[in-house]
Amino acid sequence: MFRSMRRSRQALSQKECEPLLNKATSGVLALSGDEGYPYALPISFVYDEGKLYFHSAKSGHKIDAIKKEPKASFCIIDQDTIVPEKYTTYFRSVIAFGKLSIIEDELEKYAAIDKLARKYAPNDTIENRCNEIQREWQPLCMLVMDIEHLSGKEAIELVRQKSKENM
Ligand SMILES: Cc1cc2nc3c(=O)[nH]c(=O)nc-3n(C[C@H](O)[C@H](O)[C@H](O)COP(=O)(O)OP(=O)(O)OC[C@H]3O[C@@H](n4cnc5c(N)ncnc54)[C@H](O)[C@@H]3O)c2cc1C
Repeated sequence: MFRSMRRSRQALSQKECEPLLNKATSGVLALSGDEGYPYALPISFVYDEGKLYFHSAKSGHKIDAIKKEPKASFCIIDQDTIVPEKYTTYFRSVIAFGKLSIIEDELEKYAAIDKLARKYAPNDTIENRCNEIQREWQPLCMLVMDIEHLSGKEAIELVRQKSKENM
């Protein structure tokens, strides 16, 4: 069902996509919004073993959209180097498709927010991280997206650069 890339030379492997997801600090989550309008919003996330985790308030447009339609996609841009003289950009990006769900289990919810906290505040003490999580716990909603399809693409110039380096 998921499409393959027309310009297959520019496709990144699964192995190449994962470090890009680990490196990115935010992306755009695309949901089915109100009355057929797509709702694409910027959001922080953490990637772990084929899943993306997000934190959210318990209500709002995003949560309503997910409850109505859990199918979503999430896109990160790893590189966007504009080359004006060539009227192009040397880009690299990743798109993940999957279904989102609200994590109901308390232990799973804790594990998910702990992953996210470790990504964004890697040098914090365990004690401080636990306190922060406890403080935000009640209004916190954790979401998980099980990735069903992952694609990465880079500009042909970056593909050529890579193959030169490997020669
Ligand atoms: C880099 C970055 C990281 C973020 N990380 C997180 C995160 O980890 N968790 C999180 O919950 N939120 C995050 N946000 C904020 C996020 O984009 C939403 O604003 C927020 O999640 C509320 O969404 P909602 O649908 O519940 O808002 P609602 O207030 O219910 O949305 C109502 C309407 O407000 C407008 N709106 C909402 N958000 C935005 C926005 N960001 N920009 C422009 N218009 C908007 C839209 O028109 C939307 O239909 C982040 C934003 C940025 C830029």
